Amino acid sequence: MKQQGGCHCGKVRFEAEVSAEKGMSCNCSICGKRGTILTFVPEEGFKLLSGQDALTDYQFGKKSIHHYFCGTCGVSAFGAGATPDGKKMRAINLRCLDGIDLGKIQVQLVNGKDF
Ligand SMILES: [Zn+2]
Repeated sequence: MKQQGGCHCGKVRFEAEVSAEKGMSCNCSICGKRGTILTFVPEEGFKLLSGQDALTDYQFGKKSIHHYFCGTCGVSAFGAGATPDGKKMRAINLRCLDGIDLGKIQVQLVNGKDF
């Protein structure tokens, strides 16, 4: 289902083909601090509606993942990366979808810090 979402100040807006029923909470060095609830979509299922200029790209480690956040309000609504076989993917922070009911997301805990 196509859903829209964005950062807090409204500069960054996106549309993504996602199901908000299931998400993943990861304990890796960055997800653990940000508290994101992520789901993944192929690049084709994602569209940035506004805010390209507002995005700050944060990278660390192998620098294979773009941990974007809004430079004004600091909210991380999505990231970008690729699968091991090179398929471009987006990680959507379900918390940033419009009208999301956080209590209805089935959250799976992922032990990302050990990968
Ligand atoms: Zn913002």
